[in-house]
Amino acid sequence: MKIAMKPIVEMDGDEMTRILWQEIKDTLLLPFVELETEYYDLGLPNRDRTGDQVTLEAARAIKRLQVGVKCATITPNAQRVEEYGLRQMWKSPNATIRAELDGTVFRTPILTDRIKPYVRGWKKPITIARHAYGDVYKAVELRAPAAGKAELVFTGPDGEQRQEIYTFTGPGVLQAMHNRDDSIRAFARSCFAYALQQGEDLWFSAKDTISKVYDGRFRDIFQQIFDEEYAEAFRKAGITYFYTLIDDAVARVIRSEGGFIWATKNYDGDVMSDMISTAFGSLAMMTSVLVSPHGYYEYEAAHGTVTRHYRRWQQGEKTSTNPIATIFAWSGALRRRGELDGNAPLCAFADALERSSLGAIEDGYMTKDLAALCPDQDVRALDTEGFLGQIRTRLEEGLKA
Ligand code: NAP
Ligand code: MG
Repeated sequence: MKIAMKPIVEMDGDEMTRILWQEIKDTLLLPFVELETEYYDLGLPNRDRTGDQVTLEAARAIKRLQVGVKCATITPNAQRVEEYGLRQMWKSPNATIRAELDGTVFRTPILTDRIKPYVRGWKKPITIARHAYGDVYKAVELRAPAAGKAELVFTGPDGEQRQEIYTFTGPGVLQAMHNRDDSIRAFARSCFAYALQQGEDLWFSAKDTISKVYDGRFRDIFQQIFDEEYAEAFRKAGITYFYTLIDDAVARVIRSEGGFIWATKNYDGDVMSDMISTAFGSLAMMTSVLVSPHGYYEYEAAHGTVTRHYRRWQQGEKTSTNPIATIFAWSGALRRRGELDGNAPLCAFADALERSSLGAIEDGYMTKDLAALCPDQDVRALDTEGFLGQIRTRLEEGLKA
Protein backbone atom coordinates (compact mmCIF):
# COMPACT_ATOMS: atom_id res chain seq x y z
CA MET A 1 0.00 0.00 0.00
CA LYS A 2 1.27 3.45 -0.84
CA ILE A 3 1.98 6.04 1.85
CA ALA A 4 -0.75 8.66 2.22
CA MET A 5 -0.01 12.35 2.76
CA LYS A 6 -1.52 15.82 2.90
CA PRO A 7 -0.72 18.11 -0.03
CA ILE A 8 2.42 20.14 -0.56
CA VAL A 9 3.11 22.79 -3.19
CA GLU A 10 5.00 21.43 -6.20
CA MET A 11 6.77 23.92 -8.45
CA ASP A 12 8.06 22.54 -11.72
CA GLY A 13 10.95 24.22 -13.52
CA ASP A 14 13.17 24.31 -16.58
CA GLU A 15 15.60 22.44 -18.81
CA MET A 16 17.57 19.46 -17.46
CA THR A 17 16.14 19.74 -13.98
CA ARG A 18 12.62 19.61 -15.43
CA ILE A 19 13.54 16.27 -17.03
CA LEU A 20 15.08 15.10 -13.73
CA TRP A 21 11.99 16.23 -11.84
CA GLN A 22 9.73 13.88 -13.79
CA GLU A 23 12.21 10.99 -13.61
CA ILE A 24 12.56 11.33 -9.84
CA LYS A 25 8.79 11.33 -9.43
CA ASP A 26 8.32 8.33 -11.72
CA THR A 27 11.18 6.25 -10.30
CA LEU A 28 11.38 7.14 -6.63
CA LEU A 29 8.15 8.77 -5.45
CA LEU A 30 5.00 7.70 -7.32
CA PRO A 31 5.57 3.94 -6.86
CA PHE A 32 5.69 4.37 -3.07
CA VAL A 33 3.74 7.49 -2.09
CA GLU A 34 0.17 8.57 -2.85
CA LEU A 35 1.74 11.86 -3.89
CA GLU A 36 -0.56 14.80 -3.12
CA THR A 37 0.65 18.05 -4.61
CA GLU A 38 -0.78 21.35 -5.72
CA TYR A 39 1.09 21.74 -9.00
CA TYR A 40 2.43 25.06 -10.32
CA ASP A 41 4.34 25.12 -13.58
CA LEU A 42 7.16 27.63 -13.07
CA GLY A 43 8.79 26.64 -16.33
CA LEU A 44 9.73 29.78 -18.23
CA PRO A 45 7.12 29.38 -21.02
CA ASN A 46 4.31 29.24 -18.46
CA ARG A 47 5.70 32.15 -16.45
CA ASP A 48 5.68 34.16 -19.67
CA ARG A 49 2.16 33.03 -20.58
CA THR A 50 0.78 33.97 -17.14
CA GLY A 51 2.69 37.25 -16.88
CA ASP A 52 4.60 35.60 -14.00
CA GLN A 53 1.36 35.36 -11.96
CA VAL A 54 1.98 31.63 -11.53
CA THR A 55 5.07 32.37 -9.41
CA LEU A 56 3.14 34.60 -7.05
CA GLU A 57 0.31 32.06 -6.84
CA ALA A 58 2.79 29.33 -5.94
CA ALA A 59 4.30 31.49 -3.21
CA ARG A 60 0.82 32.17 -1.80
CA ALA A 61 0.01 28.46 -1.91
CA ILE A 62 3.08 27.81 0.27
CA LYS A 63 1.59 30.16 2.86
CA ARG A 64 -1.57 28.05 2.77
CA LEU A 65 -0.07 24.54 2.70
CA GLN A 66 3.12 25.46 4.65
CA VAL A 67 5.43 23.23 2.61
CA GLY A 68 6.70 23.54 -0.95
CA VAL A 69 9.23 21.83 -3.19
CA LYS A 70 10.70 23.63 -6.19
CA CYS A 71 12.59 22.59 -9.29
CA ALA A 72 15.38 24.83 -10.58
CA THR A 73 14.16 27.56 -12.90
CA ILE A 74 15.72 29.88 -15.45
CA THR A 75 16.26 33.45 -14.35
CA PRO A 76 15.84 35.29 -17.64
CA ASN A 77 18.58 37.47 -19.07
CA ALA A 78 18.75 39.15 -22.48
CA GLN A 79 19.78 35.89 -24.16
CA ARG A 80 16.80 34.03 -22.62
CA VAL A 81 14.38 36.76 -23.69
CA GLU A 82 15.56 36.12 -27.23
CA GLU A 83 15.68 32.31 -26.91
CA TYR A 84 12.14 32.02 -25.50
CA GLY A 85 10.66 35.09 -27.22
CA LEU A 86 9.66 36.48 -23.83
CA ARG A 87 7.27 39.37 -23.42
CA GLN A 88 9.42 40.71 -20.62
CA MET A 89 12.62 39.91 -18.70
CA TRP A 90 10.77 38.31 -15.79
CA LYS A 91 12.32 38.50 -12.35
CA SER A 92 14.03 35.57 -10.67
CA PRO A 93 11.25 33.27 -9.38
CA ASN A 94 13.31 32.60 -6.27
CA ALA A 95 13.52 36.31 -5.55
CA THR A 96 9.74 36.67 -6.02
CA ILE A 97 9.01 33.75 -3.68
CA ARG A 98 11.54 34.93 -1.08
CA ALA A 99 10.08 38.41 -1.11
CA GLU A 100 6.56 37.02 -0.64
CA LEU A 101 7.56 34.69 2.23
CA ASP A 102 10.20 37.02 3.73
CA GLY A 103 12.20 33.99 4.74
CA THR A 104 15.79 32.91 5.15
CA VAL A 105 17.51 30.43 2.87
CA PHE A 106 19.61 27.73 4.57
CA ARG A 107 22.00 25.83 2.30
CA THR A 108 23.76 22.70 3.52
CA PRO A 109 26.15 20.42 1.63
CA ILE A 110 25.28 16.72 1.54
CA LEU A 111 28.33 14.77 2.71
CA THR A 112 29.34 11.23 1.85
CA ASP A 113 32.47 9.30 2.89
CA ARG A 114 33.42 8.94 -0.76
CA ILE A 115 33.98 12.59 -1.45
CA LYS A 116 36.65 14.49 0.43
CA PRO A 117 36.18 18.25 0.74
CA TYR A 118 38.83 20.38 -0.98
CA VAL A 119 39.46 22.00 2.38
CA ARG A 120 41.12 19.16 4.31
CA GLY A 121 40.07 20.44 7.73
CA TRP A 122 36.32 20.36 7.02
CA LYS A 123 34.71 17.40 8.79
CA LYS A 124 31.09 18.56 9.14
CA PRO A 125 28.72 20.48 6.89
CA ILE A 126 28.76 24.26 6.89
CA THR A 127 25.26 25.68 6.54
CA ILE A 128 24.91 29.06 4.92
CA ALA A 129 21.91 31.16 5.95
CA ARG A 130 21.24 33.71 3.28
CA HIS A 131 19.06 36.72 4.02
CA ALA A 132 16.37 36.45 1.40
CA TYR A 133 15.26 40.05 1.02
CA GLY A 134 16.53 43.28 -0.42
CA ASP A 135 20.00 44.73 -0.96
CA VAL A 136 21.24 44.46 -4.54
CA TYR A 137 18.35 42.10 -5.45
CA LYS A 138 15.88 44.95 -4.96
CA ALA A 139 18.20 47.73 -6.03
CA VAL A 140 17.36 50.45 -8.49
CA GLU A 141 20.04 51.47 -10.91
CA LEU A 142 20.72 54.37 -13.22
CA ARG A 143 23.26 55.22 -15.83
CA ALA A 144 24.46 58.75 -15.45
CA PRO A 145 24.70 59.76 -19.10
CA ALA A 146 26.84 62.82 -18.45
CA ALA A 147 28.20 65.10 -15.73
CA GLY A 148 25.73 65.82 -12.93
CA LYS A 149 24.98 65.48 -9.25
CA ALA A 150 23.53 62.32 -7.68
CA GLU A 151 21.69 62.50 -4.36
CA LEU A 152 19.92 60.12 -2.02
CA VAL A 153 16.58 61.61 -0.93
CA PHE A 154 14.24 60.28 1.74
CA THR A 155 10.84 61.91 2.21
CA GLY A 156 9.18 61.04 5.51
CA PRO A 157 6.58 62.46 7.90
CA ASP A 158 9.13 64.93 9.26
CA GLY A 159 10.24 66.19 5.87
CA GLU A 160 13.18 65.41 3.70
CA GLN A 161 16.64 63.97 4.28
CA ARG A 162 19.26 64.45 1.58
CA GLN A 163 22.70 63.04 1.13
CA GLU A 164 24.98 63.73 -1.78
CA ILE A 165 26.18 60.51 -3.41
CA TYR A 166 28.60 61.83 -5.97
CA THR A 167 29.12 64.70 -8.33
CA PHE A 168 29.87 63.22 -11.72
CA THR A 169 32.20 65.04 -14.09
CA GLY A 170 31.37 62.55 -16.85
CA PRO A 171 29.22 59.47 -17.48
CA GLY A 172 28.97 56.73 -14.88
CA VAL A 173 26.63 54.40 -13.04
CA LEU A 174 24.52 54.60 -9.87
CA GLN A 175 22.77 52.14 -7.60
CA ALA A 176 20.48 52.53 -4.60
CA MET A 177 19.38 49.69 -2.39
CA HIS A 178 17.41 49.20 0.76
CA ASN A 179 16.50 46.83 3.51
CA ARG A 180 13.83 46.87 6.20
CA ASP A 181 14.19 46.49 9.96
CA ASP A 182 11.32 43.99 10.05
CA SER A 183 12.95 41.80 7.39
CA ILE A 184 16.32 41.91 9.16
CA ARG A 185 14.58 40.96 12.41
CA ALA A 186 12.78 38.06 10.72
CA PHE A 187 16.14 36.99 9.27
CA ALA A 188 17.81 37.13 12.68
CA ARG A 189 15.00 35.17 14.35
CA SER A 190 15.02 32.42 11.69
CA CYS A 191 18.79 32.10 12.14
CA PHE A 192 18.71 31.94 15.94
CA ALA A 193 15.80 29.48 15.90
CA TYR A 194 17.43 27.29 13.25
CA ALA A 195 20.74 27.26 15.16
CA LEU A 196 18.90 26.11 18.28
CA GLN A 197 17.03 23.45 16.33
CA GLN A 198 20.28 22.15 14.82
CA GLY A 199 22.32 22.61 18.00
CA GLU A 200 25.01 24.46 16.04
CA ASP A 201 26.89 27.72 16.59
CA LEU A 202 25.73 30.74 14.64
CA TRP A 203 28.09 33.21 12.98
CA PHE A 204 26.93 36.42 11.38
CA SER A 205 29.13 38.49 9.12
CA ALA A 206 28.81 41.84 7.35
CA LYS A 207 31.04 44.81 6.55
CA ASP A 208 30.08 47.37 9.18
CA THR A 209 33.51 49.02 9.17
CA ILE A 210 32.78 50.32 5.66
CA SER A 211 28.99 50.33 5.68
CA LYS A 212 28.50 51.92 9.08
CA VAL A 213 24.79 52.73 8.81
CA TYR A 214 23.51 49.94 6.55
CA ASP A 215 25.55 46.93 7.70
CA GLY A 216 25.76 48.46 11.17
CA ARG A 217 21.97 48.19 11.37
CA PHE A 218 22.15 44.45 10.61
CA ARG A 219 24.79 43.93 13.31
CA ASP A 220 22.81 45.89 15.93
CA ILE A 221 19.51 44.14 15.22
CA PHE A 222 21.13 40.70 15.47
CA GLN A 223 22.81 41.63 18.76
CA GLN A 224 19.65 43.10 20.26
CA ILE A 225 17.46 40.13 19.36
CA PHE A 226 20.12 37.73 20.58
CA ASP A 227 20.49 39.49 23.93
CA GLU A 228 16.77 39.89 24.49
CA GLU A 229 15.37 36.63 23.14
CA TYR A 230 17.99 33.93 22.61
CA ALA A 231 21.09 34.38 24.81
CA GLU A 232 19.69 32.21 27.61
CA ALA A 233 18.55 29.41 25.28
CA PHE A 234 21.93 29.43 23.51
CA ARG A 235 23.74 29.16 26.87
CA LYS A 236 21.59 26.20 27.88
CA ALA A 237 22.13 24.51 24.52
CA GLY A 238 25.89 25.08 24.80
CA ILE A 239 26.08 26.96 21.52
CA THR A 240 27.35 30.42 20.75
CA TYR A 241 26.52 33.39 18.58
CA PHE A 242 29.06 35.90 17.37
CA TYR A 243 29.36 38.69 14.85
CA THR A 244 32.47 39.23 12.78
CA LEU A 245 33.55 41.07 9.63
CA ILE A 246 32.93 39.19 6.39
CA ASP A 247 36.64 39.01 5.56
CA ASP A 248 37.46 37.63 9.00
CA ALA A 249 34.60 35.14 8.66
CA VAL A 250 35.96 33.87 5.32
CA ALA A 251 39.36 33.22 6.90
CA ARG A 252 37.82 31.47 9.93
CA VAL A 253 35.55 29.33 7.73
CA ILE A 254 38.54 27.97 5.81
CA ARG A 255 40.38 27.14 9.04
CA SER A 256 37.30 25.59 10.71
CA GLU A 257 36.10 21.98 11.04
CA GLY A 258 32.58 22.89 9.90
CA GLY A 259 29.46 22.09 11.87
CA PHE A 260 28.06 25.62 12.23
CA ILE A 261 25.63 28.03 10.61
CA TRP A 262 27.01 31.06 8.84
CA ALA A 263 24.45 33.83 8.47
CA THR A 264 25.14 36.18 5.60
CA LYS A 265 23.60 39.10 3.83
CA ASN A 266 21.79 38.37 0.57
CA TYR A 267 24.67 38.80 -1.88
CA ASP A 268 27.32 37.25 0.37
CA GLY A 269 25.08 34.19 0.72
CA ASP A 270 24.60 33.94 -3.03
CA VAL A 271 28.35 33.95 -3.65
CA MET A 272 29.57 32.08 -0.57
CA SER A 273 27.11 29.22 -0.95
CA ASP A 274 28.54 28.48 -4.41
CA MET A 275 32.05 28.60 -2.93
CA ILE A 276 31.09 26.32 -0.01
CA SER A 277 29.24 23.80 -2.18
CA THR A 278 32.07 23.56 -4.70
CA ALA A 279 34.65 23.23 -1.92
CA PHE A 280 32.64 20.45 -0.30
CA GLY A 281 32.63 18.63 -3.62
CA SER A 282 29.87 19.56 -5.98
CA LEU A 283 27.18 22.14 -6.55
CA ALA A 284 24.94 19.14 -7.24
CA MET A 285 25.32 18.07 -3.58
CA MET A 286 23.88 21.18 -1.96
CA THR A 287 20.36 21.45 -0.55
CA SER A 288 18.53 24.65 0.03
CA VAL A 289 15.54 25.45 2.21
CA LEU A 290 13.73 28.74 2.58
CA VAL A 291 12.37 29.11 6.13
CA SER A 292 9.91 31.93 6.74
CA PRO A 293 9.52 33.49 10.19
CA HIS A 294 5.96 32.06 10.19
CA GLY A 295 7.23 28.52 9.74
CA TYR A 296 6.66 27.97 6.00
CA TYR A 297 9.29 25.81 4.32
CA GLU A 298 10.29 25.70 0.67
CA TYR A 299 12.86 23.10 -0.43
CA GLU A 300 14.99 23.05 -3.57
CA ALA A 301 18.37 22.12 -5.00
CA ALA A 302 20.96 24.89 -4.84
CA HIS A 303 22.12 24.37 -8.42
CA GLY A 304 20.53 25.72 -11.59
CA THR A 305 18.83 24.08 -14.55
CA VAL A 306 22.12 22.52 -15.83
CA THR A 307 21.74 24.03 -19.30
CA ARG A 308 24.86 22.40 -20.77
CA HIS A 309 23.47 18.94 -20.04
CA TYR A 310 20.07 19.92 -21.42
CA ARG A 311 21.62 20.95 -24.73
CA ARG A 312 23.12 17.47 -25.03
CA TRP A 313 19.83 15.83 -23.97
CA GLN A 314 18.09 17.82 -26.72
CA GLN A 315 20.54 16.23 -29.22
CA GLY A 316 19.34 12.83 -28.04
CA GLU A 317 22.39 12.10 -25.86
CA LYS A 318 22.18 10.46 -22.45
CA THR A 319 23.50 12.66 -19.70
CA SER A 320 24.97 11.98 -16.30
CA THR A 321 23.19 14.68 -14.35
CA ASN A 322 23.34 14.40 -10.57
CA PRO A 323 19.82 14.15 -9.09
CA ILE A 324 20.89 14.11 -5.41
CA ALA A 325 20.10 17.72 -4.46
CA THR A 326 16.72 17.53 -6.18
CA ILE A 327 15.96 14.21 -4.45
CA PHE A 328 16.88 15.80 -1.11
CA ALA A 329 14.56 18.71 -1.87
CA TRP A 330 11.73 16.19 -2.18
CA SER A 331 12.78 14.21 0.90
CA GLY A 332 13.08 17.44 2.89
CA ALA A 333 9.60 18.57 1.87
CA LEU A 334 8.02 15.16 2.51
CA ARG A 335 9.71 14.89 5.93
CA ARG A 336 8.54 18.38 6.86
CA ARG A 337 4.99 17.50 5.76
CA GLY A 338 5.21 14.33 7.84
CA GLU A 339 6.45 16.22 10.91
CA LEU A 340 3.67 18.78 10.66
CA ASP A 341 0.97 16.10 10.38
CA GLY A 342 2.47 13.47 12.68
CA ASN A 343 2.73 11.24 9.60
CA ALA A 344 5.47 8.83 10.70
CA PRO A 345 5.39 6.61 7.57
CA LEU A 346 6.02 9.67 5.38
CA CYS A 347 8.99 10.72 7.55
CA ALA A 348 10.34 7.17 7.41
CA PHE A 349 10.00 7.22 3.62
CA ALA A 350 11.97 10.47 3.43
CA ASP A 351 14.74 8.92 5.57
CA ALA A 352 14.78 5.77 3.43
CA LEU A 353 14.98 7.84 0.23
CA GLU A 354 18.01 9.76 1.53
CA ARG A 355 19.71 6.61 2.85
CA SER A 356 19.21 4.83 -0.48
CA SER A 357 20.59 7.80 -2.43
CA LEU A 358 23.71 8.04 -0.27
CA GLY A 359 23.93 4.24 -0.10
CA ALA A 360 24.26 4.02 -3.86
CA ILE A 361 27.15 6.51 -3.73
CA GLU A 362 28.86 4.72 -0.81
CA ASP A 363 28.61 1.49 -2.84
CA GLY A 364 30.44 3.20 -5.67
CA TYR A 365 27.57 4.02 -8.04
CA MET A 366 27.38 7.69 -8.92
CA THR A 367 27.07 10.32 -11.63
CA LYS A 368 30.10 11.59 -13.55
CA ASP A 369 30.50 14.80 -11.58
CA LEU A 370 31.01 12.77 -8.38
CA ALA A 371 33.12 10.03 -9.98
CA ALA A 372 35.51 12.77 -11.11
CA LEU A 373 35.94 13.68 -7.44
CA CYS A 374 37.10 10.19 -6.40
CA PRO A 375 39.83 9.41 -8.96
CA ASP A 376 41.65 6.82 -6.83
CA GLN A 377 38.56 4.84 -5.87
CA ASP A 378 36.84 1.90 -7.50
CA VAL A 379 33.65 3.61 -8.66
CA ARG A 380 31.28 3.44 -11.62
CA ALA A 381 30.05 6.57 -13.36
CA LEU A 382 26.47 6.01 -14.51
CA ASP A 383 24.05 8.04 -16.58
CA THR A 384 21.13 9.62 -14.75
CA GLU A 385 18.71 6.73 -15.32
CA GLY A 386 21.31 4.15 -14.29
CA PHE A 387 21.99 6.01 -11.07
CA LEU A 388 18.28 6.48 -10.30
CA GLY A 389 17.89 2.74 -10.86
CA GLN A 390 20.56 2.01 -8.24
CA ILE A 391 18.75 4.25 -5.78
CA ARG A 392 15.41 2.60 -6.64
CA THR A 393 16.79 -0.90 -5.92
CA ARG A 394 18.07 0.21 -2.52
CA LEU A 395 14.85 2.05 -1.75
CA GLU A 396 12.73 -1.03 -2.45
CA GLU A 397 14.98 -3.10 -0.17
CA GLY A 398 15.00 -0.40 2.50
CA LEU A 399 11.22 -0.10 2.54
CA LYS A 400 10.77 -3.88 2.75
CA ALA A 401 13.01 -4.03 5.83
P1 NAP B 1 23.92 25.33 -13.15
O1 NAP B 1 22.67 24.95 -13.78
O2 NAP B 1 23.99 25.12 -11.68
O3 NAP B 1 25.09 24.51 -13.85
C1 NAP B 1 26.44 24.92 -13.88
C2 NAP B 1 27.34 23.72 -14.10
O4 NAP B 1 27.48 23.02 -12.87
C3 NAP B 1 26.77 22.69 -15.07
O5 NAP B 1 27.05 23.01 -16.38
C4 NAP B 1 27.44 21.42 -14.58
O6 NAP B 1 28.79 21.37 -14.98
C5 NAP B 1 27.44 21.63 -13.08
N1 NAP B 1 26.21 21.11 -12.44
C6 NAP B 1 25.25 21.82 -11.78
N2 NAP B 1 24.29 21.01 -11.32
C7 NAP B 1 24.64 19.76 -11.71
C8 NAP B 1 24.04 18.48 -11.54
N3 NAP B 1 22.87 18.33 -10.89
N4 NAP B 1 24.67 17.40 -12.07
C9 NAP B 1 25.83 17.53 -12.71
N5 NAP B 1 26.45 18.71 -12.91
C10 NAP B 1 25.85 19.81 -12.40
O7 NAP B 1 24.26 26.86 -13.41
P2 NAP B 1 24.21 27.73 -14.78
O8 NAP B 1 24.56 26.89 -15.94
O9 NAP B 1 24.99 28.92 -14.46
O10 NAP B 1 22.70 28.18 -14.90
C11 NAP B 1 21.76 27.54 -15.73
C12 NAP B 1 20.39 28.16 -15.50
O11 NAP B 1 19.98 27.90 -14.16
C13 NAP B 1 20.37 29.68 -15.66
O12 NAP B 1 19.32 30.03 -16.55
C14 NAP B 1 20.09 30.22 -14.27
O13 NAP B 1 19.22 31.33 -14.31
C15 NAP B 1 19.42 29.07 -13.59
N6 NAP B 1 19.65 28.98 -12.13
C16 NAP B 1 18.57 28.66 -11.35
C17 NAP B 1 18.71 28.49 -9.99
C18 NAP B 1 17.50 28.14 -9.18
O14 NAP B 1 16.43 27.97 -9.71
N7 NAP B 1 17.65 27.96 -7.90
C19 NAP B 1 19.97 28.62 -9.40
C20 NAP B 1 21.07 28.92 -10.22
C21 NAP B 1 20.90 29.09 -11.58
P3 NAP B 1 29.29 20.61 -16.33
O15 NAP B 1 28.54 21.24 -17.47
O16 NAP B 1 30.74 20.88 -16.32
O17 NAP B 1 28.93 19.15 -16.18
MG1 MG C 1 24.46 31.83 -6.64
